[in-house]
Parts: sequence; C-alpha cells; structure tokens
Amino acid sequence: MATSMLRIPPPQELFRPLVVPERLLLGPGPSNVPPRILAASGRQLLGHLHPEVQQVMDDIKAGIQYAFQTQNRLTLAVSGTGHCAMEAALLNLLEQGDTALVGVNGVWGQRAADMSRRLGANVHELLKPPGEYFTLSEIEEVSAGRGAGRWARVSLGDSHLPLCFTQGLVQHKPSVLFITHGESSTGVLQSLEGLGDLCHRHGCLLLVDGVASVGGVPIFMDEQGIDALYAGAQKVLNAPPGSSPISFSERAREKMLRRKTKPRSFYLDMDWLAGYWCCYGERRSYHHTAPINNFFSLREGLAILAEMGLESSWERHRANCAKLCQGLRDLGLELFVKEEVARLPTITTIKVPEGYDWKEITAFIMDKHGIEIAGGLGPSEGKVLRIGLMGGNSTSGNVDRVLRALRDALGHCRRSKL
Ligand code: PMP
Repeated sequence: MATSMLRIPPPQELFRPLVVPERLLLGPGPSNVPPRILAASGRQLLGHLHPEVQQVMDDIKAGIQYAFQTQNRLTLAVSGTGHCAMEAALLNLLEQGDTALVGVNGVWGQRAADMSRRLGANVHELLKPPGEYFTLSEIEEVSAGRGAGRWARVSLGDSHLPLCFTQGLVQHKPSVLFITHGESSTGVLQSLEGLGDLCHRHGCLLLVDGVASVGGVPIFMDEQGIDALYAGAQKVLNAPPGSSPISFSERAREKMLRRKTKPRSFYLDMDWLAGYWCCYGERRSYHHTAPINNFFSLREGLAILAEMGLESSWERHRANCAKLCQGLRDLGLELFVKEEVARLPTITTIKVPEGYDWKEITAFIMDKHGIEIAGGLGPSEGKVLRIGLMGGNSTSGNVDRVLRALRDALGHCRRSKL
C-alpha cells in the first residue's frame, strides 16, 4: 500500500525508546512493584481458558478469601482498577429505585454517591468533614457535618458554614450502606466494629471500600458481617493496577438473585463473572479475555501476603506508620487526623505547613530525592500532604528516607511571603 494514502504519519514519539525512571512511590498508590511480581507480569502469555490460567484464577480466589478473611464463594478479581470494583459492587447491588446511604467523609464517598445516582438509586449522603469518621449511632440516626457536600469548594473546618444534620439507617431505610474503610484522600481509618450487625438489623447490606486498607489493616469480612468488599492491586498487594479483588456475601448474592432488572453493565455482571471464575463449581464459561499477565502479578502479590501472613503485615504497617508519625511530629508537622485510632496505617496525612505551597514540597521531593508523595484529593486538595507506606514499601528505611526528604524540603521551600 502506498504511504501517500496515509493521512496520519507514524508518530515520531514512538520511535524514541520508552522512558521509565526509578522512583520510590510513597504516595497513596500505586506502590513500587517488587521484582518477583514484575517478573510474573513479564511471563509469556497463555490462553485465558488454558488449565494453567484457570489454576492461577483459583489461586487468586483463595488468596482473596485469605486477605478478606471470608469463605464467600462469590469471590473473584474484576478486570479493572479500584473504580471498576466500586462500580461492580454498586451496580450489582443497586437497581433503579433502590435506596442507598453513602458515607461521605472524603472523595470515595463522593464518587460512590455519584455512581449510585447514575444507576438510578435514591441516594442519601451521610456527611462528615474530611479527617473525621462515622460512629455507629451517627450511621443509625443522624450525623452532623459542615457545608453539606460542598467540601470540594470550601476550606476544611470552615466554621461559618451551616452545621448540617444528615439522617441515617432509621430514617432512610436503605438497602445498601457504602462506607470507606481506608479513606485515602484524608488518611482516616473507619472502624467497622458492629456495623454489619447494625446494617442487618435495619435490613441493609454493608458495602465496604477496602482499596487502601486490605492487607495493611485488620479486616474480617465474615466476622464483621460485610456483604460486599473490594480492594486494589496496586496498594498493599504491590501489583500493577488493572485487576481488583472483590467478594460478596450470601446475603448480597440473594439480593442479586431477587433483582427485577439486569445489572446495567454486561462486563461487570456478577452472574457472568461468577461463571467465568467458576465460583459455584460450574463449567468455566467465556465472558471476556482476562488481563492474564495482570492476573499473574496479582497472584504473586497475594502469594507474598500469604507467605508473610496477614498479622505480620498488619503489624509491619502499624509499626512503620507509628515511626513515621513520630518523625513527622519531630519535624514540627501536624498530623491531619486527630485521633490516633482513626489514623490509617497505610496512608498518613499531614496538614500543609503554614508558609509553604504543597506543590513546591511534592515537586522538590520528587526532583531532589526521587520520591513521590502526594497532595490532597477532592475535599482534602490543597490542605494535606499524603505519604503512603504500603506492602513492600512499608519499611523502616523508607520512613527514614521520606523524613530526610521532608526535612530537606522544609529547609528549601519556605516562601518569604504567603
Ligand atoms: N478507593 C480508595 C479508597 C482508593 O484509595 C482508590 C485509589 N486511590 C480507589 C478507590 C480507586 O482505585 P483506582 O485508582 O485503582 O481506580
């Protein structure tokens, strides 16, 4: 074929070699991928229905059951990132006209509320200012928040905003409650104790976002009565993003079986996915072509967690977070989450120190130290800096490195006039 027929020439950028510098990723995710997991994703492709790949999928299921502490049969990995799992959970549990109650104390609740509205659900938001968590009684009855969902546009803790009361399970009688276990935009750890029982007493399913917490913080899906839980590959599991663990309880499955309408996505329909993942022992049926190499790396991420043991992993995250928090205080920095019990061990937030521009700090640390830390997100944007220590990145050495980089940044980035 004559090249003159081509209106678009080959892009010159693609003739240059791929550039991927070495960086230490200590933001809220992704985390660095260790060699064993990298090697797994570089293995030769196999057919997605070959027995070896089916074995990998079975291994992943078992690994997720361990990480989530669940015996749920409807356990698998969706082919997509954390948002995909969030959407899968919501769209399989909700249909037009259902009522959802969404805990909004950061960006993930905001996004879950948005997704639920797109599904035609009646959505009620339980509001708390970023940096705070929900108590059982607030979830059951009422909770107070300032600024009623407008946090993205207002300063944190603005006292001139009206104090808004939002209502809970008693008033709204939702069929699903969404809550974020590890609120990565604010660094808050939400206690789940008693929440499953509370939801079930009110005829409601409990849906938990565990993307930033699973593997690094204790969570017991069955014991805590969680009906749907999902996680991410690129945080504590140290695998590349692209597939996300998810699991549903029998109670959740029953709700899916009672649906009057089909889920609004073919790709994320749990009935199809259950068949593809052989969750109920049936013959494996083709649904889509799984991201096979991504499954290899997810399998290895789950294997490393299993070899280390959940309890050791939780302890490692706790200890390194405690060391980081102490070091941050020693530098004169202020932790954003007031109560120690409500601090997420995987992602620590500090207030942007007065007299500094957060963007200069993150850019300086990236340029001079090759370390990624992040600013805020959504309601916490411009207010906080976020430091993630997840999976293999949660080491005492990395705590020292990031503290050294921060000390250096504090010395270099102060603005004379702000
Ligand atoms: N939920 C939480 C708590 C998260 O931290 C993230 C990722 N930052 C997500 C959901 C979305 O995950 P992803 O970016 O992989 O789509």
